[in-house]
Amino acid sequence: MKKLLAVVLVLCIAMSAVLCGCGSSETEKAAANADKAAAKGDPVDTNKVIKSDDKYRSFYQIWIGSFCDSNNDETGDFEGIISKLDYLNDGNPDSGEDLGVDGIWLSPMMPSYSYHKYNVRDYFDIDPEFGTLETFDEFIKECDKRGIAVIIDLVVNHSASDHPYFLKACEELKKGKEDGYAKYYNFKKGADMTYNRRVTGTNYFYEGQFSSEMPDWNLSYQGTKDYFEEIVKFWLDRGVDGFRLDAVKYFSDANTDGVEFMDWFYKMAQGYNPDVYMVGEHWDSAGSIYEQYKSGMDSYFNFKFATTSGDYVVSARNGMTKTFVDSLKKYNDNILKRNEKAINANFLTNHDMPRVSNALDASEQKFASALYLLSPGNSFTYYGEEIGIEAPNTTNDASFRTAMIWDNDNLPNIWVNGVAEVEPNELGGVKQQLADKNSLLNFYRRTLKLKNQNPEIARGKITGVMPTDDTYLGGYYIEHEGSKLLVIHYGGTETMSLKVTDDILKGAQFRGGLVASDVPEGTKAEDYKVKFADGTLTLPPNSTAILKAN
Ligand code: CA
Ligand code: CA
Repeated sequence: MKKLLAVVLVLCIAMSAVLCGCGSSETEKAAANADKAAAKGDPVDTNKVIKSDDKYRSFYQIWIGSFCDSNNDETGDFEGIISKLDYLNDGNPDSGEDLGVDGIWLSPMMPSYSYHKYNVRDYFDIDPEFGTLETFDEFIKECDKRGIAVIIDLVVNHSASDHPYFLKACEELKKGKEDGYAKYYNFKKGADMTYNRRVTGTNYFYEGQFSSEMPDWNLSYQGTKDYFEEIVKFWLDRGVDGFRLDAVKYFSDANTDGVEFMDWFYKMAQGYNPDVYMVGEHWDSAGSIYEQYKSGMDSYFNFKFATTSGDYVVSARNGMTKTFVDSLKKYNDNILKRNEKAINANFLTNHDMPRVSNALDASEQKFASALYLLSPGNSFTYYGEEIGIEAPNTTNDASFRTAMIWDNDNLPNIWVNGVAEVEPNELGGVKQQLADKNSLLNFYRRTLKLKNQNPEIARGKITGVMPTDDTYLGGYYIEHEGSKLLVIHYGGTETMSLKVTDDILKGAQFRGGLVASDVPEGTKAEDYKVKFADGTLTLPPNSTAILKAN
């Protein structure tokens, strides 16, 4: 009976394939795309892009208030984001007409009086500056259509000081009642280093790691946990795919073990959606992040490699990629040792640090993007990084969060706290960079396409580094489900030839290349490429090659 069923099933699948012409139309589509690319003078590229249906994604971080303003009230909003979704991902993985990201991390969006909204007053709504729950639902629907996963910033270390529970707690404490709402927060009589914020008119003090306006939740109280469970369920029901957890480093206190809490939180969310994806902000040393992976949660941001002094930016500047790949392997080995399902969270910068363009020129920015986008795990691209937006100063948080520049000739009227003026972008707005084949934006598009054409890069494990004596040459082997890739980064200043012997990679096939350095004068752009012929790889300065073992 089972056998008969299987035969019928196979027949049905075969018939449906004939009826909808799946096989042939996919091939035709790929051929048509290749023709289109050739007609535009781009390299013909017929490698198929693989659409993700798992947790491995290329995320794009959107600072909602600065991205796109739909109603001219000087603040970005959900309607604005919806109008720009095709820029990020048009739903057709083979079109090559979008950035190629397939995940969005939304910076805080819940009601809050601050512009950054990291102090939440109401966990069950959208701040009216950004839209309504209905516009949010519409946004989720549009992301679903395009295959974009959405994670939201969830702040559970602290609430706002005007959160109703905190206001009630303070009222009760003024009457000496300690066993009511006060249990949701960390209060005690008398001040110390941690409990250093006073409840006005009392001798009670509370923990507020960031400010008096951000009281820390008591994470070991069951009532708080029940409340968080309601919040998680509410947003998962609305269709979000996961969470970016803020300030994880501060979860640990006298009563709470941060790793244990994270383990509870992750499992609780998995109870509502087994495929939930979570990434934590534990801004600390690599050693401390390794330990966090014991919680079982998918990802923690890789701060050792990020920031303008991290491995990605430093290696892109000095070109010493041999050291870089050793460091990357070591980091990945260490997180996988703690959690075999760990997904490294790679990024250059986020909303809390100077822009990468404050530290690197355009071609160095290209090289840095190849280094992080092609590292195993998930990538997180901070909005505007793909066009090289520069922070007007490197000390004020708001200056890292200025308006997205869609068109240098038509600047947005977006006001960000303390940074009143929007300046034209030195490397051009999106419109200008789309028109320039050699722009940073088009480099990002090519790199993400290469990543999406080779799904092993994100999903695989680094199993070794390429043998070499050249400080400026680094390569790592990635293995995934029987497939073996070699990702090579070359940071030297002269074009080099590398004979790819069997010792380096058996039966090497070329999967693609990228050149981050500018085309030298007198050289034709089409000649300035990574090439692979007769077993020899030609690598111009600051270039990347992907090879696959046969
Ligand atoms: Ca608006
Ligand atoms: Ca805390």
